[in-house]
Amino acid sequence: MVHKDPEKGKEYRRKWQREHRENMRMANKKYRQTHKDKIKEYIEKNKKRINKYKRLWRAKKRKENPELFRKKLNDWRAKNIERIRRQNLIYHKAHPEIRRRANLKHRHKYRMIVLVHYGGNPPKCACCGESEIKFLTIDHINNDGAKQWREKGFNPRLRSSYIADYLITNNFPEGFQVLCYNCNCGKAKNNGVCPHKQQKI
Ligand SMILES: [Zn+2]
Ligand SMILES: [Zn+2]
Repeated sequence: MVHKDPEKGKEYRRKWQREHRENMRMANKKYRQTHKDKIKEYIEKNKKRINKYKRLWRAKKRKENPELFRKKLNDWRAKNIERIRRQNLIYHKAHPEIRRRANLKHRHKYRMIVLVHYGGNPPKCACCGESEIKFLTIDHINNDGAKQWREKGFNPRLRSSYIADYLITNNFPEGFQVLCYNCNCGKAKNNGVCPHKQQKI
């Protein structure tokens, strides 16, 4: 129906859309299901344009309500975690250099979180007070680190790269402290007591 008054025409179309929304949705859904190949082809052909609109749409939504946006994103991630992992794997295989750098950054960040938690801010060796980050390690207070790691199914030789991840995901369990390499090795070679401590006695 063509209306002489454009405002009225707009109103009419809006009303029609409202009334037929469910029907339209069903029809669209049916079309998508029966024309999967065609849609795929269309998306492939117009990838750049579609991605551009997607980006703009997301930016708009993020600006409108950042909290809701973040929540939805997190929900989506939780739901699609397997898919994300698969895609990441493919991407990382194709870009090993980017992966290596991201790993390093990630590890440094996690290491710092763990060192600050167990060793104070800024972190220090619990024995001698060494504060150079590169000298610091996470120490199992009871000296049963290797055994504990084996029980958890980790290779104890790899523990330095896993320990930060492990401690964070397990909500900072007790029984760990920050020591420098010197005190750590000294303790290991001296039946669990750092030679520094022995001198004091
Ligand atoms: Zn020390
Ligand atoms: Zn010491």
